[in-house]
Amino acid sequence: MLEHITALKQAIDGAKSILVASHQHPDGDAIGAVLALKAGLEALGKQVTAVSSDRVPNNLRFLPDWESIQVIAEDAPPPQQVADLAIMVDVSVVARLGRAAPFLEAAKTLAVVDHHQPSDDPPGDIRVIDPKASATCLILYLILPELGIDNTPAIAQCLLTGIATDTGSFRFGNTDPISLDAASHLVALGANLTQINEEVWEKKPLSAINLLRAALNHMELHSSGQIATSYLANDDYAAAGATDEDSEGIVNEIGRVRTVMISAMFREPKPGKIRVSVRSRGAYDVSAVCRLFGGGGHVNAAGCTFDTSMEEAIAALLPALEECLASS
Ligand code: 5GP
Ligand code: MN
Repeated sequence: MLEHITALKQAIDGAKSILVASHQHPDGDAIGAVLALKAGLEALGKQVTAVSSDRVPNNLRFLPDWESIQVIAEDAPPPQQVADLAIMVDVSVVARLGRAAPFLEAAKTLAVVDHHQPSDDPPGDIRVIDPKASATCLILYLILPELGIDNTPAIAQCLLTGIATDTGSFRFGNTDPISLDAASHLVALGANLTQINEEVWEKKPLSAINLLRAALNHMELHSSGQIATSYLANDDYAAAGATDEDSEGIVNEIGRVRTVMISAMFREPKPGKIRVSVRSRGAYDVSAVCRLFGGGGHVNAAGCTFDTSMEEAIAALLPALEECLASS
């Protein structure tokens, strides 16, 4: 990976215009990484544009400069300008860039900074990919000095948000010494962990609480209580006045049952597509299960999409989860 960090530094040094983007339905690690990198590259005198396929979720609108992220409209014309360098963060699958994909693919050089398990043939000319890192923001924290970027309080707040998001505020199994070390240093630099916890996790709109109510009503246990599933039909979103953003974290709520090792939340925020979020405890590898259905993610947190009815999606995934439980 070292030679890729050197290559990234050279690409940045040689670029005037740089495009930064992350995945569709961005989370705290995605937005934190985009904003930290944008601020750092701007401090180096670069002309930086941050684009996104989807809007910045409400719970991340406390981050410095979040409004500078340009959301690409559905009917946006193809790229007019070609950036010298494009950097995709927290994603190593071009399709997951959504509407940002053509803009990044048009750049003269494409770099990837990510912590997801890469496919056999990841995109990009430069790849700083470390699946062992708890967050993309942790990778950025570690390589900023190599890139010649000073860590300001604003950058520290963005990076800590990414690490805190992807470790569930330092509760998940990926919370390792290096993440805690980074967090300690970022707080010393001026990051505010209390604000992050409050904004990202604690405060919720009523629509999200109403959606949670429906999800808990639909919860079912399988395999002697070791698997929890629930669903949110499109009607449930309408009744709660909710959007997909309000579904964030519900999969963790149904996974709280003491006996549960794997939880899966099936949802239809827009009619016709079933999005599934899967979580597990311990060694149960739910990313392998999701890959069987064209999705992916991490060992303990993964997802996939079905173009079927809700019933068919549950009927397809549940046996694979039961198999994962039995064979691990
Ligand atoms: P979430 O359930 O929060 O949407 O996603 C959990 C994890 O799985 C995230 O790290 C996300 O990047 C990954 N993930 C979710 N859906 C997909 C998918 O359709 N394809 C891939 N490759 N990864 C996914
Ligand atoms: Mn991440």
